[in-house]
Amino acid sequence: MSLYKIKKSNIDKNGRGLYATKNIKAGTKIIEYVGNIITKKQTENSDKFDNSKPIYLFNLNKRYDLDGNVPWNPARLINHSCSNNCEYEGTGLKIWVISNKEIKKGEEITCDYGFGYDSDYKQFPCKCKSINCCGFIIRTESRWRINKKFRKNSRISR
Ligand SMILES: [Zn+2]
Repeated sequence: MSLYKIKKSNIDKNGRGLYATKNIKAGTKIIEYVGNIITKKQTENSDKFDNSKPIYLFNLNKRYDLDGNVPWNPARLINHSCSNNCEYEGTGLKIWVISNKEIKKGEEITCDYGFGYDSDYKQFPCKCKSINCCGFIIRTESRWRINKKFRKNSRISR
């Protein structure tokens, strides 16, 4: 039985998300993040990746990237949350979505998109509404730049 199902997201009101179909322990492989393996050169030469925040593009190694923006990759529907319950973990040329805490049945499966802090961060508002939310999609380590309460030593956890 699959550990997730696809339904309308509570975070992205216009989109879909993945939801746990049962209680999931921390450290569980939930879904493989699949896509087309492409060379860095293809990435550089394609208009598809012009966006400064590569939402579906993962770095696999020095030569290859993974383009997950394909219809057969349900993991592309996973939304960002500032209190993410999963991480992307790469092993070789594969990327897995692995739980980093216990997930309850019915909870939305979320990751940290890992965006850096730069001048265009305001283009990517975050609506996860978690206690850790800084209002924008920015990786954990950079959230203190938006709000001092996210300074390293004062990280709030649920
Ligand atoms: Zn948030």
